[in-house]
Amino acid sequence: MVRSTADLRRTFFEYFQQHQHQLVPSSSLVPHDDPTLLFTNAGMNQFKDVFLGAEQRSYTRAVSSQRCVRAGGKHNDLENVGYTARHHTFFEMLGNFSFGDYFKEEAIKFAWQFLTGELGLEKDKLLVTVYHEDDEAFDIWEQKIGIPAERIIRIATSDNFWSMGDTGPCGPCSEIFYDHGEHIWGGPPGSAEEDGDRFIEIWNLVFMQFNRQQNGDMLPLPKPSIDTGMGLERISAILQNVHSNYEIDLFQSLIASAAKIVGTEDLEDKSLRVIADHIRSCSFLICDGVMPSNEGRGYVLRRIIRRAVRHGYKLGANDIFFYKLVNTLVDEMGEAYPELKQQQAVVEKVLKTEEEQFSKTLARGMLILNDALSELSGKQVPGELVFKLYDTYGFPADLTNDVAREQGLTIDEEGFEAAMAQQKSQSQSASKFGADYANVLSVEHKTEFTGYSEVSGMSTVVDIIVD
Ligand code: ATP
Ligand code: MG
Ligand code: MG
Ligand code: MG
Repeated sequence: MVRSTADLRRTFFEYFQQHQHQLVPSSSLVPHDDPTLLFTNAGMNQFKDVFLGAEQRSYTRAVSSQRCVRAGGKHNDLENVGYTARHHTFFEMLGNFSFGDYFKEEAIKFAWQFLTGELGLEKDKLLVTVYHEDDEAFDIWEQKIGIPAERIIRIATSDNFWSMGDTGPCGPCSEIFYDHGEHIWGGPPGSAEEDGDRFIEIWNLVFMQFNRQQNGDMLPLPKPSIDTGMGLERISAILQNVHSNYEIDLFQSLIASAAKIVGTEDLEDKSLRVIADHIRSCSFLICDGVMPSNEGRGYVLRRIIRRAVRHGYKLGANDIFFYKLVNTLVDEMGEAYPELKQQQAVVEKVLKTEEEQFSKTLARGMLILNDALSELSGKQVPGELVFKLYDTYGFPADLTNDVAREQGLTIDEEGFEAAMAQQKSQSQSASKFGADYANVLSVEHKTEFTGYSEVSGMSTVVDIIVD
């Protein structure tokens, strides 16, 4: 049974709506009221206060598909992109939530019924983990669901104990994994080979039982709650009978389009996967009001754009290319996210400007880097060089690291930080690589754009009126 990613999102909503869940739209990638969070990275973020009992809603069950970015902060999958079959910087997290309504047993039953009933997954390809002390969850899986004990794995690490932060809601989790088959390298959770791609985690069920205090005390939550998260792209891969997320409909279309634009024929090239991943995070971040800048959220965005541009350069793109992918993205995701369609012109303009800026120094920087790498005696790129590339050519350190890693090398991060600190103490001047986006937008477009600007890491609302 093959389903499109869009169908799957809809099926998930319908299933939980039939079980009295309120459909709640995805919140912004910029968590407006939570300064502890860089980007929205899970479906539960927007319900934090509801879980804490500080906010009341008219419903006690919710379902959503939350856009998430994991490219900094507590969850950072930037370095995994291009290296694993399952990680993106931007992805959608499907989730069902109970705010003091149902708890463990129903949450487990819903998940199992959805996967094996609605979606028809083969039961013997699934295995589950529980927190090692959570006998209750173990028993539900074994006795109520009927999973053989050897397919229920007890895990003692923090992977199976979820917490929002150092304080706040927390509790044990139970995760559902899918076995993609013996031909793919990797071992079950808890094994030494766990980090392979054979057993892929698809769904995390969090049983929120406690509210951890500053002093470490774990107070029981007034009403235990449920938070779940399932990667839309991962479950899509299973239903479309492919192994990697990058082989699903949505990514295949982005990859094909990227290949055409940069002029390459090798659709398997890792750089195409990176570009297809990055166009999603960059476009959605801009759509949610993040502008490239030299600090905070804006710098994360700038770094992702430059990485994508470098991969295009590696593939031989000989023109500004990245923004041209926005069209395909809008075709693929514009229906589920109309705001993306509405902001298309702004997103394209920002990406184009950013690439134009960087392309002025990219080729020269790459020459210097490649020369240095070919003469390198050890396995580490000197911090001084990493800094020079950053300071003179606008190469973020992680970009240089990305190039180094492709050749089995690492960068001297400490040396880079030291050079950076020295420069900071010598001058407070702004970088030469910024663009004035208020200006850029006002000249070119006829839309009204409300965004956020970064001022010393704090978000402040700005209105860029474009006419
Ligand atoms: P992994 O161990 O594979 O990195 P995780 O344990 O960090 O995943 P959770 O925080 O439990 O992930 O998030 C819930 C679900 O969201 C995961 O089970 C997975 O399906 C999906 N997910 C998490 N991170 C990513 C990502 N970077 N790209 C795509 N899907 C993801
Ligand atoms: Mg992870
Ligand atoms: Mg995990
Ligand atoms: Mg997990």
